[in-house]
Order: sequence, then structure tokens, then C-alpha cells
Amino acid sequence: MNDYDVAIIGSGLGGLACGAILSKNGYKVVVLEKNKVPGGCLQTFERKGVKFETGMHYIGSMREGETLNRYFKYLSLNDQVQLNELDRNGYDVISFVGKRYPFANGNEPFIETLSRFFPKESASIRKYIRDMGEIASRSPLYSLNHFEDPYYTNEYALSTGVDDYLIELTDNQILRNVLTGIMPLYGGRKDITPLYYHAIIADFYNRSAFRIVGGSDRIASSLCTSVREAGGEIITEARVEKIICNQNRASRITLCSGETLSASHFISAIHPALLMDMIDTPLIRKSYRKRVRSIPQTDSNFTVYIKFRELTVPYMNYNFFHYPGQSVWESPYFFYMHLCREKNQRMAHGAILYENMRWEEVERWKDLPCGNRGQEYEDFKTIRAEKLLSALEKQFPGTVCNIENYWTSTPLTYNYYTGTPQGAMFGIMRNKNDLRGISIMQRTKVPNLYLAGQNINAHGIMGVIIGSVLTCAEIMGIEPLLKQIQNT
Ligand SMILES: Cc1cc2nc3c(=O)[nH]c(=O)nc-3n(C[C@H](O)[C@H](O)[C@H](O)COP(=O)(O)OP(=O)(O)OC[C@H]3O[C@@H](n4cnc5c(N)ncnc54)[C@H](O)[C@@H]3O)c2cc1C
Repeated sequence: MNDYDVAIIGSGLGGLACGAILSKNGYKVVVLEKNKVPGGCLQTFERKGVKFETGMHYIGSMREGETLNRYFKYLSLNDQVQLNELDRNGYDVISFVGKRYPFANGNEPFIETLSRFFPKESASIRKYIRDMGEIASRSPLYSLNHFEDPYYTNEYALSTGVDDYLIELTDNQILRNVLTGIMPLYGGRKDITPLYYHAIIADFYNRSAFRIVGGSDRIASSLCTSVREAGGEIITEARVEKIICNQNRASRITLCSGETLSASHFISAIHPALLMDMIDTPLIRKSYRKRVRSIPQTDSNFTVYIKFRELTVPYMNYNFFHYPGQSVWESPYFFYMHLCREKNQRMAHGAILYENMRWEEVERWKDLPCGNRGQEYEDFKTIRAEKLLSALEKQFPGTVCNIENYWTSTPLTYNYYTGTPQGAMFGIMRNKNDLRGISIMQRTKVPNLYLAGQNINAHGIMGVIIGSVLTCAEIMGIEPLLKQIQNT
């Protein structure tokens, strides 16, 4: 008899969501995590009394009846996770060629607000927001209002580029850039990123936008509680080294401690390129391994985590995306958001500031130990941080003198903590020109090994939860899962 029904590798959102769904359906589940603390990108860290999120800063579609709210109820997250709403009149602000453009929640407020800046373009703005809503709602698991074909894929939105769509939409280049201003949320690339990923995110936050009170690790701890209460186990400091297969199935997992455990089913909720290094079976063909390993990754980021002097900086209840150049696609950008204490939401006690960074910029330090990569690396980070802070100061004069401390992270940090190749923020790069080449399905050629996490369906809280539902459907069948979600 096997030790477990299902062994899940990785305790990020993907692994934990699968664990919560399967354990509440009676499966004996174990989630194996290499780090001391579960959560992956949901993890937070604390410095001098300020808690910083590392990979989940705001979530959308959380008002009563909206899609993520329904998934949260299904995963029993609603009672555990409290939210603070971002400014409905401008939850995101895009700063481009010297002006600031707020995105308001809801179709009419969005159209009305942006039309003030582009009075001749209100028909294009209306068409844009309607198209984004339609693309999202055609996908059954994104809208949860029709279930006839849960595996529907939107060929048009996947094979059309964000930029192609916007060129068709309007001749106004500034408007095109402003609408593309949320592309850091999906690591977009010009001529490559499919419209689909833009649309599901634009629609997701257009409905509503919230911060998580107390930080995104609340989601991880709540999912861990659900797994444990349903009889499952979460084992930390348990790096999976090998998946051992017999002739036709996976049978056991070997951990870094040398221990092994057996299961009837295995879910790999880590980056699929990492999985290729831990499984040695002819069932997974060389061509598949090569394809998975060669898919380009999204960019990573350089982050400055800021602690302000007490009561010096008023809290801004929105996210700020700044583009210094003439095109959103080509320029380096920065993303800036404030953190406040629950009991004083008028003043910020911290902030997160990040800009896009490629792996190649830090690759030369990759083999040095985390926390001890030497003076040259430290100097590199300081110079980069000071440059980024002076760009921030230009946008928000009087901010930098109120910084008491700051800490930094680079793509090496993400690579170290999550294992993701090149520290890629959102895993693999989606590519409208190579839909087959980059598509990675839940199912593998090993009949009892499945994949989950941000590289499978889509990244982000909603993309990963939906991907987890589809992964669990491989084990349980889709019908019972759909019924459960519909009845929640
Ligand atoms: C900077 C940043 C900001 C973001 N902001 C948002 C946001 O505001 N809203 C939003 O919706 N999404 C956001 N995202 C995206 C979101 O965080 C991710 O899509 C999602 O959390 C990924 O979950 P995952 O389970 O696929 O992977 P991960 O979170 O990477 O989890 C993988 C886990 O597997 C573990 N692991 C790896 N190898 C092994 C092994 N051999 N054995 C055992 N365990 C292993 C890792 O330690 C890790 O815990 C952001 C991401 C980043 C990086």
C-alpha cells in the first residue's frame, strides 16, 4: 500500500490549492516544500517591524459574487483572509510621458475617467473594456457563469498580440501605451505576449482591487490549515530530489534527507524545467524535455523594500506604474506601492519599489551563496537602488529623505527561494507566435504524474487557482469539481 494518495511537490499557491482541493475530497495528501516556510511567492518577510510581500501585492474580483471571491469561498479562504479595497477611482495609476492616468474600477467609471484624458477616444476605450470583459467571460472557469466546455481555449486572444490588438483599436499612441501600462503584471513583451493574458488581468482588476490585510502569507497559512484539517500533511525542508518510475508509472519520491515515500498520484507544482532534472524515465521523451527546457522565461525584477520614518509619508491607496520613455514596451519601468498598518491607514510605514531586471545582469554571481555573494554584488545592488530611488524622488519629491532603511532583492533571490529558473517573475514567457511550443498541459506521459502552478494555465492568484482545479480534475474528474464550485 502507498504512503499517500497524492504527493505534491512545492507549496506555492499551485501546490497548496491542489492540496486543499484534494484533501477536502478525501484524498490522503502530502505537500513537500524545500524551504522552511510554505507559500512560495505568497511568502512575506519582516524587517524592523515592516512586513513585506514578495510576490502577491493585490488581488481583484473579490467583491461578493465576483469570480475570485467564489473560488476563495470554495477554498475556505474567505473567513481567514481580510481585505482592504484600493481606491476605486484609481486603483492603478499609469505614469507616461509626464501625465498620470488613473484606472477606475467598473466599466463605466473606467471609460469615463480615461475619456477625460482622451475625449475623442471614448468609443475606443469603451470597445477596449468590453473586449477585455468578453475575452475573460468566454472562458468558463474565469467567469463561472457557463460550464458547457470547461476546457475552452480562446484561439483568437491567444494568437493575437496585445500590441496588434491595440493598433487595431486606436491610432492614438499615448492611449495605446497607457492601456498597455499594466504589462508588468504579466511580464509582457512587444510582438510576443498574447492578448489573452492582458485581457484576463485587465478584467480581473477592473471588477475590484484589494490588498490583503496582514500580507499574502495569510493565504498560504489558511490553505495549509485546510490541508491539515482535512487530514493532509505539509512537510517543510523536504526538497524533492528524484521521482522514481517503474516501467509505466511514477512510484516513489526521494527527498534530500534520503527518505523516500510512495504515492498513487504525483503533482509537480514547481517550474516544469526543474521537474525534467528530477525524473529519469523513457516515458518522458527527449523532445519534450528539450522543449520544456528551452522555453524562454519572463523577466525578473530588482526590488527595493523600504521602511519610512514613522508618520512622515502619507499612504497612497493605489499602485503606481512609471514609464520614463516614449514607449511602455521599450523603456525600463518601475512599479511602486505603499504599505500601511491596519490601525493607521493614513500614513505609510513602508513601500515596495521594483523595476524589471534580466537574469543576465546578475548571472555572474549565481554560484555564490545567498546572503554572502561578496562586495561586488553588494555594490551593484547599492548603485542600482540609489538610481531607482532617485527616479522615485523625481515622481514623488520629498520621499527619499523619509526613508529610514531599505533592503534589496534581485533575480538571484527569487531563483534561490522559489527555484524558478532565472528568477522569472511569472515563469515561462507566453508567446502568441509559438502557442504549441510553449503550451504545457496538466497531464504528462507518465500516467500518474500531473503538473500544476503558474506555468501551466496562467500565473497570478486566479490563473494558478484555476490551473489547480484543472490539475485536480485529472485525478477526480472535472464534473464533481465543477458541481462543488457552482454550489459554493
Ligand atoms: C514580484 C511578484 C509580484 C507578483 N504580484 C502578484 C499580484 O499582485 N497578484 C497576483 O495575483 N499575482 C502576483 N504574482 C504572481 C504570483 O505570485 C504567482 O503566479 C504564484 O504565486 C505562483 O505560484 P506557484 O505555486 O506556481 O509557484 P511558486 O510560488 O514559485 O511556488 C513553488 C514552490 O515550490 C518549491 N520548490 C521548488 N523546488 C522544489 C523541490 N525540489 N522540492 C520541494 N519544493 C520545491 C519552492 O520553494 C516554492 O515554495 C507576483 C509574482 C511576483 C514574482
